[in-house]
Amino acid sequence: RHHSLAFALYEIGRDEVHLRKITVTHRLQQAILNGGFELLFQPQYDLRAGRIHSAEALIRWQDPELGRMFPDEFIPLAEQSGDITLITDWVLNEALRQMAAWQADGHDLGVSINLSARDVLQDDFIDGLIARLRHDDIRRDALMFEITESAVMADPEHALRNLQRLYDAGVSLAMDDFGTGFSSLSQLKSMPVHELKIDKSFVLRLDEDRDDQRIVRSTIEMAHHLGLSVIAEGVENRASLALLYDMGCDAIQGYYLSKPKTASELREWLATFDQHRLESLHA
Ligand code: C2E
Ligand code: MG
Ligand code: MG
Ligand code: MG
Repeated sequence: RHHSLAFALYEIGRDEVHLRKITVTHRLQQAILNGGFELLFQPQYDLRAGRIHSAEALIRWQDPELGRMFPDEFIPLAEQSGDITLITDWVLNEALRQMAAWQADGHDLGVSINLSARDVLQDDFIDGLIARLRHDDIRRDALMFEITESAVMADPEHALRNLQRLYDAGVSLAMDDFGTGFSSLSQLKSMPVHELKIDKSFVLRLDEDRDDQRIVRSTIEMAHHLGLSVIAEGVENRASLALLYDMGCDAIQGYYLSKPKTASELREWLATFDQHRLESLHA
């Protein structure tokens, strides 16, 4: 068989991608055993109450060989290998530890944790999670789990059953990246979620894109009709924030407020947070 040069190069490229995946998956397993993860927290601002009410936990990984790694690359690989549930366990432990520390500091701050499709479909993982949540010292009411539409769509019946169990255990659930999957607002009706998180692709240019404005406005309106609260991610400027406030959005998260921070950076930031920067919105 005679292959073209282009095809040969394509195959080499494919091998490289494959090798990278194997390497990252292997290094990730080392990190699970030996450490190397860090949990950052990005504050979420409650537009109605006018205060920072929560923070999203976002994982980072620094590997001695691969360098600084971002979750968009390694989380999908951890899902494929099945290691994701071990990572989620680590995230949960770390987040609960921080939440207790903030509490001790006098900050009433909740935490949002991302769950992957694999987490949601693994019954023994959900069993373990619920068992942990039963402990008295855990503030279930301050804990939110974020799930994506695609996590639910992979096996809706199974996912919904486990989400319902989490819901019944007293934690809140948010539909993350809303608008990027294939589910519709009407399907949300039957889902045990409290909050809808509008994907940043609709929010990043909200101030200048009329179509995004229409989409976001009607999403907020319909979510409210379904009894869900709405948070917008990816708020990068004051103009977008003001629009979201006018549209009745319940909460925001984004670089305009703060990038993801380490726990100690966040603690410092909270202490000096300039309320006035956002307060004029409420005039
Ligand atoms: P996500 O859950 O939708 O998280 C929001 C992402 O948007 C984060 O990226 C955050 O840093 C970024 N972001 C927030 N505000 C802005 C903004 O104003 N502008 C822009 N351009 N970006 C903003 P990050 O931390 O890189 O995480 C990417 C994705 O990786 C997350 O998307 C989530 O799906 C996944 N992920 C992160 N941490 C975890 C984790 O602990 N467990 C699981 N299962 N997935 C995680
Ligand atoms: Mg999220
Ligand atoms: Mg999101
Ligand atoms: Mg996202």
